[in-house]
Amino acid sequence: MVNKEAYRELVEELAAKKVTLVAVSKLKSVEDIIALYGLGQRDFGENYVQELLDKQAKLPDDIRWHFIGHLQSNKVKYIAPFVHLIHGVDSCKLLKEINKQGAKLDRRINVLLQVHIAQEETKFGFDETELADVLPQVDNYSFVNIHGLMGMASFSDNKGRVQQEFQSLQQQFELCKRNSSLASSFSIISMGMSGDYQLAIEQGSNMVRIGSLLFGRRQ
Ligand SMILES: *Cc1c(COP(=O)(O)O)cnc(C)c1O
Repeated sequence: MVNKEAYRELVEELAAKKVTLVAVSKLKSVEDIIALYGLGQRDFGENYVQELLDKQAKLPDDIRWHFIGHLQSNKVKYIAPFVHLIHGVDSCKLLKEINKQGAKLDRRINVLLQVHIAQEETKFGFDETELADVLPQVDNYSFVNIHGLMGMASFSDNKGRVQQEFQSLQQQFELCKRNSSLASSFSIISMGMSGDYQLAIEQGSNMVRIGSLLFGRRQ
């Protein structure tokens, strides 16, 4: 069930702050997506390739699909023709594969590099040193458009820690932006979910990925 009231309030709050809302619809029905689409939402985020393909086939063409999960290289080819933005690029191998599929389609594919900011070992992403190694190589990938960075904070009640993690992503974003090999299109910081999006925006986020606040809890 979609919480329309929460959606309207969120849209108003985010518009005032010029923050893009990605509605995270993973494990939610096509009907729920249509309900939000009917209210004007066009950016939706999914975590699983097969689920995204099933939904994309059934839903309107003007939806901008964001892939926000962990993407395996061997699955890039399925989403490459239509995906709007891949948030979780966390290895050179994946970057290379996205470039290869982009070249085949003659389509520049939009991506964000995922940076590991949380304390938990389980979260994917480049660390600071790896990021510094990747950046000089981006010129080699002419079918990939690197638009910015994505990160997930620790799952924690410790506000100070979460804040610090978001701040570290923001600082890395500023550093990357100064890197001359990145085009002026480097402009997106994707951070913040239902539980921490306000903290993320305070630390400079301009794209939030919100699921349960809009769609209710997932099974
Ligand atoms: C599921 C998910 C979200 C949304 O989480 P909520 O807490 O439901 O808002 C955001 N980002 C990523 C990467 C996710 O996997």
